[in-house]
Amino acid sequence: MDITSLRVGSGLDIHKLSSDPERRFIVGGVEIQPSNGPIGHSDGDPLCHAIADCLLGASGLGDIGDHFGDTDPQWKNVDSMDLLRRVVDMVRGLGYQILNIDSTIVLQHPKVKRFRPMMQERLTQVVGAPVSVKAKSPEEVGSLGQSEGVVAFATALCLSPNSSNI
Ligand SMILES: [Zn+2]
Repeated sequence: MDITSLRVGSGLDIHKLSSDPERRFIVGGVEIQPSNGPIGHSDGDPLCHAIADCLLGASGLGDIGDHFGDTDPQWKNVDSMDLLRRVVDMVRGLGYQILNIDSTIVLQHPKVKRFRPMMQERLTQVVGAPVSVKAKSPEEVGSLGQSEGVVAFATALCLSPNSSNI
């Protein structure tokens, strides 16, 4: 492997949480309970969106808003795992190999730890490379700590079809 072909990408996503207990809460393709899910044009899955962004960043394809506009009716309430699948296809289509992804979800309530193995399994399947998911509590600090929102971070390591000898 030529290490000058390695590319890193970072992704961040944030969603305001709804006060509607009927709004489903999907994180990393897994429905978590209790609900009061995110407000968003799609299903608002913050982990899928952060992972999509880090892959787009690593391959120089911009960000998720460039490809899936939040006013486009085509993407209204869409399953974000489908969006992620499309991003993986785009990145691979350019000849990039996805090596691994690491991610963190920051959420006060509910605790996502018990959902982690299923999230990792589903995301790894869609991405085709190992995806690790970490969970952090905001420790009741600020608006995240008051359960007003959810944040996800992700980092991807990819192998570019082009090397850059700087
Ligand atoms: Zn999002």
